[in-house]
Amino acid sequence: TKFSDLKLDPKVLKAIADAGYEAPTPIQAGAIPPALEGRDVLGIAQTGTGKTASFTLPMITLLGRGRARARMPRSLVLCPTRELAAQVAENFDTYAKNTRLTKALLIGGVSFGEQDKLIDRGVDVLIATPGRLLDHFERGKLLLTGVQIMVVDEADRMLDMGFIPDIERIFQLTPFTRQTLFFSATMAPEIERITDTFLHSPERIEV
Ligand code: AMP
Repeated sequence: TKFSDLKLDPKVLKAIADAGYEAPTPIQAGAIPPALEGRDVLGIAQTGTGKTASFTLPMITLLGRGRARARMPRSLVLCPTRELAAQVAENFDTYAKNTRLTKALLIGGVSFGEQDKLIDRGVDVLIATPGRLLDHFERGKLLLTGVQIMVVDEADRMLDMGFIPDIERIFQLTPFTRQTLFFSATMAPEIERITDTFLHSPERIEV
């Protein structure tokens, strides 16, 4: 598979060519086509396999030109740690550099004020840790009813850190019609239960 065979936005293709990527990794070749068709994806992959691009590139393509409304992000990426969320945000900036899509990073250890301002302006992509996301929600600053695409990254680490109840709660706050891209290095029974409950006929890709 070549990147140019995947039906990605030309702006995205240009950004990844600039980044020096020559060919999609197996998780990218497997996950990008069903994601672009609007299907749910269950990706079983470790870090280092290129999984961040496997959800970010289709997300950027699908979000296209739409515009976000105040306090209603159009997509959501949940990460287990601040460091991972910051890394995803950095990757998003690289891949979305030729677009006008906006993002906000919601992680602990940063004051609410700046994050509130970004959310108020409207963001296309919200990248967050579960606890901080729910803090903003409880404060009444955020609605998840406009989320069209939801990503759960490193679900196995979410489980280790006790975030599964938060993840379930966040799923319930998003529309039933959302598209879900769900990634885990392993499939523990607790994770299988979440994917059985919240994913709709996912395409399963294991690398
Ligand atoms: P990840 O597994 O998402 O953390 O990605 C691991 C590393 O591989 C990151 O530094 C990416 O920039 C890089 N990468 C992702 N996809 C590709 C690709 N198709 N070609 C070359 N490098 C890539």
